[in-house]
Amino acid sequence: MTRTVYVNGDYLPEEEAKISVFDRGFLFADGIYEVTSVLGGKLIDFEGHAKRLARSLAELEMASPAPRGELLKIHRELIARNRIEDGLVYLQVTRGVADRDFAYPAPETPPTIVLFTQAKPGLADSPAAASGISVISIRDQRWGRRDIKTVQLLYPSMGKMMAKAAGADDAWMVEEGTVTEGTSNNAYIVKGSTIITRNLGTEILHGITRAAVLRLAKEAQMTVDERPFTIAEAMAADEAFITSASSFVVPVVSLDGQRIGRGIPGPIATRLRKIYLDESRKAAI
Ligand code: PMP
Repeated sequence: MTRTVYVNGDYLPEEEAKISVFDRGFLFADGIYEVTSVLGGKLIDFEGHAKRLARSLAELEMASPAPRGELLKIHRELIARNRIEDGLVYLQVTRGVADRDFAYPAPETPPTIVLFTQAKPGLADSPAAASGISVISIRDQRWGRRDIKTVQLLYPSMGKMMAKAAGADDAWMVEEGTVTEGTSNNAYIVKGSTIITRNLGTEILHGITRAAVLRLAKEAQMTVDERPFTIAEAMAADEAFITSASSFVVPVVSLDGQRIGRGIPGPIATRLRKIYLDESRKAAI
């Protein structure tokens, strides 16, 4: 079955979907995106992703392609047409098509909007969640507005390749001595019973999963300390984990080749993953 994608108002077979060579997303990475998980045919944390999309659009003075309700309808239509049980919906909005010029085109230029699905059978039962993952530390060489979810993902891509070359699963990025985040996820350590993760700012993406997991952790009477932490602290931590919309909560069991804690998924990460998945499934729309 060929995949149906959405481009600027049309549902099309993926081979027929076309974007202009003059699209600013292509020429300038002048675009933003969101990835929302689907479990049991329903969207996880759609409200959070819709809100962050609106924020990214506002920060870049980019026109909104459609109101929230319309976006929800498109997400659901694609899930239905592609029969997605477990998987992802990817959404991208760019500043549209204009002759190449660094200055933004006229504000009435229609934005480009693209959505597509990726089927991921068994998304919530990934082997990585059971075994935990290994990470390496690398320098954070991204731009300074990481709170805006832009499509300029080359450095995170390079980071994944550095991890792969080192035989690891992912990389944590370090700036001025502290960990910012993972290449495509937020980073956490646990010391005693305290969960430590970097505070929000322009240095990291404001993860939708991060917000939900921290809220659930507090509701479960866990202690949360939002502050930067060092690689040395992470090495000496009892456990570590990452969060993202597509991986939920995944334990990190080694850093730069050294075990974290006992080198197996820790009890807090394991519990948070279960709480997050249970609550998200209940709230899915
Ligand atoms: N940080 C970065 C750099 C990311 O790319 C992502 C995933 N898009 C996250 C954090 C996690 O955010 P979310 O929980 O909203 O997927």
